[in-house]
Amino acid sequence: MKNLVNNGINTENLPNAAGYFGEFGGAYLPEELEKVMKEVEAAYEEISKDPSFIAELKELNEHYTGRPSPVYHAKRLSIAAGGAEIYLKREDLNHTGAHKINHCLGEVLLAKHMGKKKVIAETGAGQHGVALATAAALLGLECDIYMGEIDVRKEAPNVSRMKVLGAKVISVTQGTKSLKDAVDAAFEAYLKDPVTQIYCIGSVVGPHPFPMMVRDFQAIIGMEAREQMQSYAGSLPDAVVACVGGGSNAMGIFSAFLDDKDVELYGVEPAGKGLETGKHAATIAKGTVGILHGFKSLVLQDKDGEPLPVYSIASGLDYPGVGPQHSYLHSIGRVHYETATDREAVEAFYALSRMEGIIPALESSHAVAYAVKLAKKLGKGKKILVNLSGRGDKDIDFVMEHYPLEEYEPEENLKDGYDEFLKHIGGEKN
Ligand SMILES: *Cc1c(COP(=O)(O)O)cnc(C)c1O
Repeated sequence: MKNLVNNGINTENLPNAAGYFGEFGGAYLPEELEKVMKEVEAAYEEISKDPSFIAELKELNEHYTGRPSPVYHAKRLSIAAGGAEIYLKREDLNHTGAHKINHCLGEVLLAKHMGKKKVIAETGAGQHGVALATAAALLGLECDIYMGEIDVRKEAPNVSRMKVLGAKVISVTQGTKSLKDAVDAAFEAYLKDPVTQIYCIGSVVGPHPFPMMVRDFQAIIGMEAREQMQSYAGSLPDAVVACVGGGSNAMGIFSAFLDDKDVELYGVEPAGKGLETGKHAATIAKGTVGILHGFKSLVLQDKDGEPLPVYSIASGLDYPGVGPQHSYLHSIGRVHYETATDREAVEAFYALSRMEGIIPALESSHAVAYAVKLAKKLGKGKKILVNLSGRGDKDIDFVMEHYPLEEYEPEENLKDGYDEFLKHIGGEKN
């Protein structure tokens, strides 16, 4: 539905009233939560037409987050890629360093409007937890973040950030002590008290209305970028590329271009150590239709419908499901879904850092890696817009430890631009 939050982009009137995008989406919930989700939906319906809510969100987007984020022509990376010109939508420059703040501000404003006292969520690596804790601090709500015990130990800096911001971090010790158990624990807590608190989902996943709401809050990325490409680059891009975990940054940038039939859209999933190894999180490439966390979509699952263990170097992409609208856009062929491996992502991480002075998040590096490949394929005179979903400060120590530059050897991606690339990173071919 077109509304003031999504700026009237063409949503193809999806989802339908029951929350479906084609056969995907819906709300598969215990009875107690059905009523609660209806209330969330009604509240969203109301605020999405309310000029004062929109004015408040707009003010925060501009003066707190720092929107609009710029579009930047990555000239040196384009030369090395040797084909189309690559442009970056700089979501890494947002306050808190990624696109997640866009929907967290929207969700916490909605919570406040509904008279909730507390927001709760799960977090894996802590990125969603930090963004939500930030929005909760700003708007004066309590915040409980559920996190697997293993992640609490692994992601110490983000745990500290959440605590400094005033959130309570609840370490989940049941099951595998990781993200899936954190989701279960947060759901349990929500079931116990759905009146004073609200569950804020971290991507375009979960039961209706979340895939729609989060998409609408993220649609500002595409709205801005579409205008910026026309004014700065002189035309719309030929292709738009974004990484896909749950799929929120991708839906955010794709939404504004769905009507532009000449603009090809590419979602990039994590192929991890390789699709053939089973160590990946490429849900659209390898998933089957199933139900996970309250919605129907493509899911990486075993034959009993249990979610499979997933893996990616980028913890933000490490999810066995994908937003229902992505499964739908895949089924109708409007968006192409491709993959990038860990190695390709690291290569792009170094390439962008060394050639443009921009350290990308490992998640976003998947999109950059695919864009470099696509640039070669499309050739000169074409334009590619990449959603740079976040900054890579959080990944620096990990990359330096596990993929030191001395041992770096480019694989497929930048082979043709290898000499050029080496000049920039200061290495020698031997
Ligand atoms: C969380 C995260 C992602 C993945 O989430 P989506 O919902 O697929 O956008 C991508 N990039 C960054 C920087 C993230 O923090």
